Amino acid sequence: MLQLGKIIATFREVLMAKCYYPGCESHANSKEHIPPKSFFPDSKKTNLMTVKSCKLHNNEKTKNDLYALINICTNCIVEKKDDAVEVFETRVKPQLMHNNEALFKKVFSNLTKERYGYRFKVDRERLDSFFNCLTHGILYNKTKKKINPENYFLSHLYMNLDERNEDGSIHDEATRTKMFWAENFLGNSSIADILEFKTKSKNGYSEDVYKVKIIGADFLEAIKSDDLTSSITVIHEFYGHFVVVSLLTRVTAFENSFAHFEVKSI
Ligand SMILES: [Zn+2]
Repeated sequence: MLQLGKIIATFREVLMAKCYYPGCESHANSKEHIPPKSFFPDSKKTNLMTVKSCKLHNNEKTKNDLYALINICTNCIVEKKDDAVEVFETRVKPQLMHNNEALFKKVFSNLTKERYGYRFKVDRERLDSFFNCLTHGILYNKTKKKINPENYFLSHLYMNLDERNEDGSIHDEATRTKMFWAENFLGNSSIADILEFKTKSKNGYSEDVYKVKIIGADFLEAIKSDDLTSSITVIHEFYGHFVVVSLLTRVTAFENSFAHFEVKSI
């Protein structure tokens, strides 16, 4: 009898599973790899993380996967990162060159030659869309918790990309914000170590390809609650080189919450 109850409960759980995306109440009918499988070379495709997703958020993410991979890889192959070179050669290049270089022409339409190499304009909206999904997916996979989207504002700092004004000059405020995060939270940062959420979820995927750290006051033992109440930072690192700091900034006042960082959107 007890066993039957257990089977029914598991069956119901599968049937009723909701999408990982905050605010989405849709039924989850697919499994998404986070980051996508295509980011990993063939020899490093084991123990990848997944989240349950609805059709809409699965498709939305897939559309931008290749675009994000192109941007990440082109940055990393310059640094001769082996895994990035392999992924670029086997997955990215064939797609860019397919159909008379159609995708290459589209993505790099505004390529300009500069003194030290080439520069192209990044479609920020597409990259943001990819990192919105990845950030929420990671948070859900690691903590089994979803934020309430009404309480948070999500923005991303692309540490390897230059932020420029319309006239091509460096965006000073954005650059300063990035320097603040780089100095205080990246590398061997003691603040990040104290605030890091020590996850119990299964690891074992290749950290050469993707490494992630979640930090925030919610994860201090002393104030652990059932809900997420303070600002959260997710630090993604691809191929040991391309770093994105995703800031889930708590925007509404909450009793006993720790508003630990003041972050301006850029
Ligand atoms: Zn959804």
